[in-house]
Amino acid sequence: MKNFCLHDWTDFDRTGKRHCRKSGCNFVSHKDAIVTETPIDYLAPDWVNYEKVHCWRNHINDRIKGMWNTFTADQKAAIAISARELANAEEWS
Ligand SMILES: [Zn+2]
Repeated sequence: MKNFCLHDWTDFDRTGKRHCRKSGCNFVSHKDAIVTETPIDYLAPDWVNYEKVHCWRNHINDRIKGMWNTFTADQKAAIAISARELANAEEWS
């Protein structure tokens, strides 16, 4: 079974799992999976303005920003999720 997909997922069901909404994709999250949502702005990110905290765009370096329009939507989503995981791990005190 796949342990990840890039589609939209349902909310948690009664057993604490999430399911992929896309027909044909049978992804179901593990009960304790930490789910990182795809940032909504991944297709055309604003590289000028940033959120104060936990901003995924802060974790994209300039070289990748310069190449952004050459990536497919799936590649953009994968990179954005990876950056968001880093952003979510930021510790603010
Ligand atoms: Zn899926």
